[in-house]
Amino acid sequence: MAKFSLFGHEQPNRIAEADSVVVIGLGRFGSSLAVELMANGTEVLGIDGNEEIVQNHNGLLTHVVRADSTKEATLRQLSVPDFDRVVLAIGGDVTASILTASLLLKLEIPNIWAKAVSDQHGAILEQLGIGHVIYPEKDMGRRVAHLVRGAMQDYLEVGDDFALVKMAPPQALIGVPLGQSKVRGVYGVTVTAFFRPGAGWSYTTLDTVLADGDVILIAGNMAKVEAFGQLR
Ligand code: ATP
Repeated sequence: MAKFSLFGHEQPNRIAEADSVVVIGLGRFGSSLAVELMANGTEVLGIDGNEEIVQNHNGLLTHVVRADSTKEATLRQLSVPDFDRVVLAIGGDVTASILTASLLLKLEIPNIWAKAVSDQHGAILEQLGIGHVIYPEKDMGRRVAHLVRGAMQDYLEVGDDFALVKMAPPQALIGVPLGQSKVRGVYGVTVTAFFRPGAGWSYTTLDTVLADGDVILIAGNMAKVEAFGQLR
């Protein structure tokens, strides 16, 4: 262990037993993911080859280590094989990403998420057998395109042809019980939940009457949701 710079109070093999995730590469994506996991109660072992980045995460994550993830012995010494969830967030250095990915597969980590910076990079990760290849920049670009076009506040694609959208309710839905406005029949989408300032989020019922200032969560076919998102 003396070979590595260890920060934090617990040894990695101890946190591996809990609800825990290894994040390899603490660049912008890996860092924000790791901090978000911590905020939601997950223990995180962060690994990065850069000393300054490791120092910057000291105290933010359960455990942060400066190490080269392309070395099998290093991953073993850090108890990475004891974890069942690893996020590989190295992007720019494609060689390091691929070498690390193949080691994680060799170590039989059951759940691996790996970030790809291009379609070719993603294809290689998929061919290697990585279960979850993610394209943060591409996905965010697509998502923002939907937000820019309409009145939507948030947009989440679910599968190939289904989406969830957060938006202000269009005027046609205000002041009328949802059962009467027949949203599903007329627009082909479902208003699943609504947020009212001071009251928070609730599920909708046929009797829900939306008001100005509410926010709704709608679900449906992408084209329908997109068209509904343009309504004012
Ligand atoms: P982002 O866009 O998320 O900032 P990026 O796509 O530019 O990141 P990189 O710069 O390749 O990705 O890597 C992110 C982090 O991974 C960096 O902090 C870098 O130090 C770390 N990293 C790169 N190679 C290795 C390696 N072999 N072992 C450990 N950490 C590494």
